[in-house]
Amino acid sequence: MRNIKNNLKTILSLCMAMTMPTILSAATSFASVSPIENKSAGNNTESVAFTSQEESINKNDQLCIDTNLGRTRLKNLLLNRRGAVLTFDDGPHPNTTPHILDILKKRNLKATFFVLGLQAKKYPEIIKRIHDEGHIVGNHTYGHKDLTKLKPAQIKTEIENTNCLIEKITGEKPKFIRPPYGAVNHKVLDAINEAGMSMVLWTVDTRDWHSKNEKAVLKEVDRQLHITKGDCIGGAILMHDIYPSTVKALDPVLDKLAANNYKIYAINNLGNTESDFWSVRSPVICKKALGSIHIDPNISGNPLMVSLLKEDSKEKPTQMGMLRAHKKGNLLIYMAMMK
Ligand code: ZN
Repeated sequence: MRNIKNNLKTILSLCMAMTMPTILSAATSFASVSPIENKSAGNNTESVAFTSQEESINKNDQLCIDTNLGRTRLKNLLLNRRGAVLTFDDGPHPNTTPHILDILKKRNLKATFFVLGLQAKKYPEIIKRIHDEGHIVGNHTYGHKDLTKLKPAQIKTEIENTNCLIEKITGEKPKFIRPPYGAVNHKVLDAINEAGMSMVLWTVDTRDWHSKNEKAVLKEVDRQLHITKGDCIGGAILMHDIYPSTVKALDPVLDKLAANNYKIYAINNLGNTESDFWSVRSPVICKKALGSIHIDPNISGNPLMVSLLKEDSKEKPTQMGMLRAHKKGNLLIYMAMMK
């Protein structure tokens, strides 16, 4: 029943939020984001920075932006540049990560490695090498659990333990985090915000973990960036530096990107607002705002709605009471009375 009540709250909050003119104006402002580019001499990887009207939008309005906009913004940003961002998850692994690093070094490209605390603990020297060679070390949690299934304290531990480990090795606290599976809910976003980190997802899934085949990886990149199709788009490419097939795929992928005039961008200057993350195709969560909008239920003047929207009280309905109310067809009223 609590879920029903919460869902009703969410739906009602959403309806009321949709009518807020400030949100509409914020969304309009986001549509006209204009990126700038920071070029660093002698380096084939460029940093991407945003300058946009969003800086003038207050924090509450930013929280109301659908995460899909993050993906759209990134797509637009990279589209105009034929840009790709390279990201590697789940490492480091001693058999494969060093080869990935060799290839990137040879080509003077920078990538982001979302590492697991578990692996960082085992192979600190590889983490150090990633950092020393100018790549970004991001947090992919300690043990690759689905964070949405954990309690807030456990989520915090997964994030903080990994940050501590990385900081001990590199001297820098990671700024970026990629939750395993791209699985996110309010609790996860709250924990990420609390840790002062930015979430980074992806727009191109090479599915290297599934195919474990270099030709299939190349094909996915080609298909998802519309290269052969002829209307190339930019993207943030997800790979895993723990498979030999991904190592084998990297040179051909980078050759293909280069042959089609793609530039490889770094993510270390992507911006610092909460909406600056890239979204998965079907984000598990759409709005962070719902938990943040404060609504006075008395505005509605409807006693039942007032009861439903009121903060949860400590008083719990009894099973017998619920059963009786259910039989009489008064379950909603009973729940409302429980407040
Ligand atoms: Zn992963």
